[in-house]
Amino acid sequence: MNSLINDEKHYVTLNNYLKSIYHKKVFKIALNGNFSCPNRDGTISKIGCLFCSKEGSGDYAGNKNLPIKEQFNQIVKLMETKWPDGYYIAYFQANTNTYDTLENLKKRYDQIYDGKTLLNDKIKILSIATRPDCLNEEIVKYLANINKTLTVWIELGLQTMHEKTAILINRGYTKETFEKALALLKKYHLTTIVHIINGLPNETKTDMIQTAKYVNTLGIDGIKIHMLHIMKNTPLASIYQNKPFPLLSLDEYVDIVTNQLAYLNDQIVIHRLTGDAPKDLLIAPSWTLKKFVVINEIDKAMRKKQIYQGDLCLK
Ligand code: SF4
Repeated sequence: MNSLINDEKHYVTLNNYLKSIYHKKVFKIALNGNFSCPNRDGTISKIGCLFCSKEGSGDYAGNKNLPIKEQFNQIVKLMETKWPDGYYIAYFQANTNTYDTLENLKKRYDQIYDGKTLLNDKIKILSIATRPDCLNEEIVKYLANINKTLTVWIELGLQTMHEKTAILINRGYTKETFEKALALLKKYHLTTIVHIINGLPNETKTDMIQTAKYVNTLGIDGIKIHMLHIMKNTPLASIYQNKPFPLLSLDEYVDIVTNQLAYLNDQIVIHRLTGDAPKDLLIAPSWTLKKFVVINEIDKAMRKKQIYQGDLCLK
């Protein structure tokens, strides 16, 4: 069993993983590269993924009108008053952070690391969330080059392995596209993190567990497990308000997540077990606002049932 799994946490938490490498707390600095998304600008669709908020799921990021350097420095200044002794992850979450020409990508990411100088010595990781259809060999090679000096994580939003649901939520790419992008990232030894969402319309517990089993076969490095949020001003909000569909209860979510963790091998780092929607934008389910309660319930259930990450994984 992975030595980062213990009696209290029956899975590999991101916090414990980072502490084991950097021996300090590592904080995310959420930056906004002012990217667009092909699923919103009309290239693929104008609707976006049905659940995606106005800010492209980057509701906590820095001010997109400021240069990245300035966003970083502003946020770090505030953080250092509270936690002076940490390291940082420069985190690009909002929209699709490789959706531009290589030249324009360089203009953004060079502000963090330009091949010679790091913006701040405490930055240990550059984390980039994107779509699999917005990666090509030229871009991945560029990121792999950064990765030689500064660890690069690439986050891909799969959400579900089921094509029927992917079409329903207007994800706008196929499983095949996802697998090709993942293979390309692995070819260049980049760290891969995959997002999945529980509670998508019409999906059963079996469907959600299948998604976890599927991602487990792909050799990914990390996973973010989210509960579906119905957020204001999203296409999903209109659908839900016109005709509410069932959402998972906290108990159901805990049951599904504990099962999913059992199917994930113990080398996969668990980056998230619940989402983080701003209170004023969340329509439902309200239990997701109590993030610590959700995590506690998952931990308690795993301890009670003696479930550990990787228990049911075929290695
Ligand atoms: S790909 Fe990401 S940013 Fe684009 S619509 Fe979907 S969730 Fe939003």
